[in-house]
Amino acid sequence: MKVAFTSDNIAGASDAVFHAMMEAAQGDAMPYGHDDGTAQVTAMLAELFECDLEVFLVSTGTAANVLSISALTPPWGSVLCHQDCHLLKDESTAPEFYAGGARFVGINGADAKIDPVVLKNIIGQKKGDVHSCQASAVSVSQVTEIGSVYSVAELQVITDIAKSAGLPVHMDGARFANALIALGCSPAEMTWKAGVDVLSFGATKNGVMAAEAIVVFKSSLEEKGLSFERVVQELGFRRKRGGHLHSKMRLLSAQMQAYLTDDLWRTNATHANTMMAMLQDGLKEIPDVVIETPAQANMLFCRMPLAMIDYLQKEGFGFYTGRWEEGVIRLVTSFRTPKEGVQAFIDAARRF
Ligand SMILES: *Cc1c(COP(=O)(O)O)cnc(C)c1O
Repeated sequence: MKVAFTSDNIAGASDAVFHAMMEAAQGDAMPYGHDDGTAQVTAMLAELFECDLEVFLVSTGTAANVLSISALTPPWGSVLCHQDCHLLKDESTAPEFYAGGARFVGINGADAKIDPVVLKNIIGQKKGDVHSCQASAVSVSQVTEIGSVYSVAELQVITDIAKSAGLPVHMDGARFANALIALGCSPAEMTWKAGVDVLSFGATKNGVMAAEAIVVFKSSLEEKGLSFERVVQELGFRRKRGGHLHSKMRLLSAQMQAYLTDDLWRTNATHANTMMAMLQDGLKEIPDVVIETPAQANMLFCRMPLAMIDYLQKEGFGFYTGRWEEGVIRLVTSFRTPKEGVQAFIDAARRF
């Protein structure tokens, strides 16, 4: 059996999501989010995160990220993020475009996690100097771009530095569910309780068709002396200006409702993570394969002989290679990755 580990967005969507969209498509509903389903999504997320929050649904992860950040930084600000993060590497110039030309500054750090020492150093530089970019927000990716996951303690260190400088923190949670399952903590513990103010709550990669939620946490913003109302108001206008205020919002909301119902989001992420654990365990035993960064969630980078990569591709397995150092491949499992496919990949690598 052949299977692709190219990305988690090669998988379609969970049946429950499409059933919910079919149902939401019946009859009439008020447009632009003034429907019951959209109100319910906010209520469901407030319950899930155990706090006061506001929600803005959009249809891509890039929009969720750049709109979130645009509401947190002035155009003369600089957004501090990891040098390999999606914002810097995979969103073209959408961040600068949406944030009015604000600067995005890449910070290094092992395992694609921001190094707190470097962050602390940069955050205080030239504060108030009109000739310099002013540090204005921090963004972290959870799961990171190489498949590692910040522990809650690691997040807290980063957000404490931001807090002491009075800066808001954004989390790119395109793989939020996978990270949460990996850590085994609560959604609140991985976000606002750990100092995250605005979250891109990803759903598309984990089983919906096209819906992501920008979640704004009230208490963490206010603890920093920042205005929740202002961020919410800006996001409302900015989402419209950015062309992401869907008139048939109910179809996005239906996806998110289905995603949050009966723990579908947890079930899907648990499956993806379990398949990755199996894949990693199998590959670890093969002497020619070197695990680059141990996968904690559903993404793994490993190094193998070029001939093995060639062989696996000829055998019909899909994965990205050639984007990183030679010999490095990326494997991603999804909510739909079949167990037999994982076994077949391990068997083929071993056979080689
Ligand atoms: C996939 C992904 C996104 C969202 O990308 P879109 O293609 O715009 O949906 C954002 N951040 C990370 C880390 C991602 O992997």
